[in-house]
Amino acid sequence: MVKSGRTAAGARAATSHTGALSGTDRATDALIRQTGVIRAQTIDDMMALLLAFSRCPLPKGRRVAVLTNAGGPAIMATDALIGHGLELAPISDRTRRRLKERLPAEASVSNPVDMIASADTESFRSCVRILLEAEETDMAIVAFVPPLMVDPMEVMRAVTEEKNRFDKPVLMVLMAEEQYYERIPREIRDCPPIYRYPETAALAAAQMANHATWVAREEGAVPEVKADRDAARAILEKESAAGEYLDPDAAFRLLQAYGFPVTPWRRVRNAEEAVAAADELGYPAVLKVGGRRIVHKSDVGGVLLDLKTPLEMEGAFGKISRAVKALGHDAETEGFLVQPMARPGREVIVGLNTDPVVGPVILFGMGGKYVEVFEDVALRVPPLTDADAREMVESIRGFPLLHGVRGDEGVALDVVHDALHRLSALITDFPQIAELDLNPFLLSPRPAECRIVDVRIRTAR
Ligand code: ADP
Ligand code: MG
Repeated sequence: MVKSGRTAAGARAATSHTGALSGTDRATDALIRQTGVIRAQTIDDMMALLLAFSRCPLPKGRRVAVLTNAGGPAIMATDALIGHGLELAPISDRTRRRLKERLPAEASVSNPVDMIASADTESFRSCVRILLEAEETDMAIVAFVPPLMVDPMEVMRAVTEEKNRFDKPVLMVLMAEEQYYERIPREIRDCPPIYRYPETAALAAAQMANHATWVAREEGAVPEVKADRDAARAILEKESAAGEYLDPDAAFRLLQAYGFPVTPWRRVRNAEEAVAAADELGYPAVLKVGGRRIVHKSDVGGVLLDLKTPLEMEGAFGKISRAVKALGHDAETEGFLVQPMARPGREVIVGLNTDPVVGPVILFGMGGKYVEVFEDVALRVPPLTDADAREMVESIRGFPLLHGVRGDEGVALDVVHDALHRLSALITDFPQIAELDLNPFLLSPRPAECRIVDVRIRTAR
């Protein structure tokens, strides 16, 4: 698929809506990947992919053999293959020996295999055969720059006959006189796909391998989520006004009804209540402004962490009240939340957005204050299968930080998977939820210590 309207400006031309669609390309990308559609960035690329998919079997793996009579194009192909996440097939000693028997001493029999310019039709034939016979290869790219003494038609016939004997994709890079690009497919009906440039062949190889992975993937199942749906319905009916943020107290209760691991909280209205709540929940404690109007609390000095005594809690109350009043809000009606200080952990975000075209989209990524800076997120369209949830967590760049690097213990990933499934169930049950952020979700190696400390939910009509 090639999709037009990737940018805000392009989207405006495509629909009568305003620029609201600017974020839609990533949601579309998530949807089409999840459904196994192969996305081409340009029409040119789409044609290149059509050629490969229509003329080749799918590869069984990602190991590519590159064979050439000219070093440059083969190295270009190699760079592009690696760039797309494919592997150069590790040529075995046996295959090396077999290639050596057929080639002059100056040739290179490691991958890419460079037969050098003296290669003739028989060299192409025997080396293609040896490489396709080898267990260590899943597909081959043959880069051919015809020298004066070699007839391109003969070489193409030989390569075609050899590739027809095997069930592995063979892609041809041909850098030849113009006439051959028409003549070969006309005269050799079952020829391999022919590309003018190595990068195009590499792209096609990569997308075939990706598609083979998708086809073979574990489909997974959507786990059943136990939740108090009646309680959730009551909260949404009573406490949500379309287009507005839910009161944080109501938002936390909604999460609780769906079994999310939220940190304990108390809503308080004055300093005495704040101190009593902290006494009950335990120190160190956190005080934050709790109204529905202040969306980014720490931006306005509305979050104070690590309060160790009742005295510090009282002081914090005064400070946040003044900050809220300075913004022109009534601190009393906004309300406050007291929480125990959660253990430091790795901060991730689990969220939900409604895309104008795709609909609800679930997001996972590295979270905390810098989420917009790193933009390290994965998107998927609900309902999520267990395979989806695992894959989405593993696909972000920061995954090694969660899995554990440099001696760090990994975090309890099951807790994240579970939260993703709960969110998937929540949006399926209550599509009026338009936007939801759990940020941060503090993750630690011990499941019982993983806690959601902040939530934001907005509903739509
Ligand atoms: P906002 O995102 O509206 O600014 P948060 O409630 O997310 O407010 O608080 C800001 C930051 O303070 C969080 O990203 C987190 O690092 C930290 N924080 C908030 N609540 C707690 C808590 N209960 N325990 C530990 N850290 C917290
Ligand atoms: Mg937050």
